[in-house]
Amino acid sequence: MLRTLKRNQKQAPTEVSKEPLLKLRDIHKTYIMGDQEVRALDGLDLDVYPGEFVAIMGPSGSGKSTLMHIIGCLDVPTEGSYYLDGVEVAEMDDYELARIRNQKIGFIFQGFNLLARTTALENVELPLLYGKKKDRTDRAIDALERVGLGDRLDHRPNELSGGQQQRVAIARAIASDPALLLADEPTGNLASQQSEEIMQIFQELNDEGRTVVMVTHEPDIGQHCKRIVHIRDGRVVDDEQVQERLIASEVLAQLKAEREQQQASRSPVPVS
Ligand code: ADP
Ligand code: MG
Repeated sequence: MLRTLKRNQKQAPTEVSKEPLLKLRDIHKTYIMGDQEVRALDGLDLDVYPGEFVAIMGPSGSGKSTLMHIIGCLDVPTEGSYYLDGVEVAEMDDYELARIRNQKIGFIFQGFNLLARTTALENVELPLLYGKKKDRTDRAIDALERVGLGDRLDHRPNELSGGQQQRVAIARAIASDPALLLADEPTGNLASQQSEEIMQIFQELNDEGRTVVMVTHEPDIGQHCKRIVHIRDGRVVDDEQVQERLIASEVLAQLKAEREQQQASRSPVPVS
């Protein structure tokens, strides 16, 4: 008994001593607006390890989107250092940054960002820069099937529901098989059933080993993640592991059972 305990104790540190996938130190992002300085990020530190599922929460204007843009290499900090998979992002040139974005990061933007007059398949296929056309198409189809849209390949965004559009955006982000998924308020514009379906996809992607960082202002969405990082005024003010995590597939099963029960109680009693 003692021996197993000891061995377990020895194993635990190897688990946590993995290198962080994201390591941000004293990150500042300052915008100059006329003669005013806006400190969107103001000395932010954050480590995220491979396989984590992190919710970033905080009031509007606290710097969440700015942080996501920096993590996603869409923007650079004014000051501070950011190591992505052990490499200092500030030292990369534009070519390297674009390459790393393509290989390692899938970004799901607030409000989907889909091309309007373009089919679901093309929306997912277009950003795939490398490989033969047929391989890219196959990948895009796989990704759309993965999010349950195998039967909507030729639909344009206005022919899809909000939840389906968000799933196209997720398919686009996962088609290149990135290790890191970033999502800025992915359930922000969706009804609760659709939000739950989106969270189910993220939980599955995380279970498969992808690291997920998502911004949300909804506490029950945060409760689906494994860790919640609270930010305020451009800094981390609290960092907690989620207790009693919500599992989307269970919540959905429960919603379905409740619906069926309601239907059963509404339908007339059969006359024998
Ligand atoms: P959140 O996503 O938490 O609502 P943001 O990161 O979008 O917050 O913004 C943080 C602060 O930085 C806000 O005060 C916002 O007005 C400001 N800000 C964000 N982007 C810009 C920009 N491009 N130029 C000037 N100010 C900006
Ligand atoms: Mg935002």
